[in-house]
Amino acid sequence: MRKQYLHLSVYSCDACAGPVIAGSLAVRENEISKETDIRPVGSICLSCGHRQSAATEPARVRHLLPMEWAPADAVKPSALKTAFVEALNRAELH
Ligand SMILES: [Zn+2]
Repeated sequence: MRKQYLHLSVYSCDACAGPVIAGSLAVRENEISKETDIRPVGSICLSCGHRQSAATEPARVRHLLPMEWAPADAVKPSALKTAFVEALNRAELH
């Protein structure tokens, strides 16, 4: 069964050394297939809001476990991106 997964990774911010969270979505056609249609959905530093899209060497990138996410045809990519950034912004407040 076709499922979409959200991948989150964390790395150090170039501007303030705070944690940058970057997300990407990928699709798996079935349990054993490789992930396809991988696309970034945004990244932001939780401390200063800097939108750093990749880690700068030699920073280590830590990957969180992928989680199942609503399929793209159920959520518009633009709306999903907005919701994701809003979630990060809320996380920043606490
Ligand atoms: Zn920062």
